[in-house]
Amino acid sequence: MASNGEPQPDCLFCKIVAREVPATLVRETDTTVAFRDINPQAPTHVLVIPKVHYPDAASLATAEPQLMADVVQEAGEVAAMEKIAVADGGPGTGYRVVFNTGSGAGQTVFHAHAHVLGGRGLEWPPG
Ligand code: IMP
Repeated sequence: MASNGEPQPDCLFCKIVAREVPATLVRETDTTVAFRDINPQAPTHVLVIPKVHYPDAASLATAEPQLMADVVQEAGEVAAMEKIAVADGGPGTGYRVVFNTGSGAGQTVFHAHAHVLGGRGLEWPPG
């Protein structure tokens, strides 16, 4: 069982934080890293992760609410940097922040991460 907050030797995203696995970084803060998704689902598809390990967004928010706030704030910074943070600009503007939580909801990497998606029209409800 993964222990919250501790680096996990077999965790892909812990390895990205440690620079043991390469990634295309777009932003970094003291507490977070943002990098491009290897299999982008939109023109902008960036993952924002806490540097410390939590298996999902809920466990992160419960244990370290300020760190969860950092992740969400960074999602906004990424959107601004990618020029998709436009509230009323029509299709291709605006963005979506997604925390898949649990394998049944599509989570495949069990290190908390926010998907920042934009740059095209986004359907609702999502698939
Ligand atoms: P999840 O399915 O919500 O857990 O999201 C995990 C995401 O990580 C997926 O969108 C993958 O495409 C992405 N991913 C997996 N391996 C890598 C990698 O090495 N670099 C960047 N993104 C990755």
